[in-house]
Amino acid sequence: MRAHLTLKSSNGKTGPIPVTTTERASCGACPLKKKGCYADDYHLSMHWDLVSSGERGTDWETHCEQIAALPDDQLWRGNQAGDLPRKGTKIDAPKVRQLVAANSGKRGFTYTHHALSCENLEILYEAALGGFVVNLSANNLAHADTCAATGLPVAVLLPTEQRTNTRTPAGRPVVICPAMTHDDIQCIDCGLCARGDRNIIIGFPAHSGGAKKADSVARTIPIHQI
Ligand code: SF4
Repeated sequence: MRAHLTLKSSNGKTGPIPVTTTERASCGACPLKKKGCYADDYHLSMHWDLVSSGERGTDWETHCEQIAALPDDQLWRGNQAGDLPRKGTKIDAPKVRQLVAANSGKRGFTYTHHALSCENLEILYEAALGGFVVNLSANNLAHADTCAATGLPVAVLLPTEQRTNTRTPAGRPVVICPAMTHDDIQCIDCGLCARGDRNIIIGFPAHSGGAKKADSVARTIPIHQI
């Protein structure tokens, strides 16, 4: 599994924090794959290709050493492109354990679209207990309720035009990512996604070059089963 650490992101949404990119093969049955994933936007997509072909980045062990070398309390975002390492439909638990250990004393967060099987949930709970925040990526508001029932933090894809806070069908509050509604807020100021104990879901309206396709996912994807 190849991965890359950018020490100071130039991404306008994150601000200058460390961000990682994991090779394309890490993505499993994500409904956004080639259908509106924002990471397929030109520059990030090119970088992702180079990481995936081995021209950029390192092996997983070296990657975890790089994470471990970040300063204490550092906020960092995992997988601006890519997902947690996997083997088929299973999250690669030993590799995630390495990452969780590397994150010790830091404030790493990421998102996953991997299936919420019992086995996958086990390692996700382990990561949460170890202080690494993995947000479950929900495809729509109903799916967000399904994901939130696990007790793990959730981020949800919303239709493009949804720019105000809302609720899931079960009444859970959904707050729009402030970096999408305020020019002067970035992850470096906000850090909400790194709060594993929050009881609100973070909403991301479909955006980027693939917004139209992602928007159709936000509206139509069937609810995943746990
Ligand atoms: S909610 Fe905050 S931490 Fe999460 S992506 Fe938006 S700005 Fe970044």
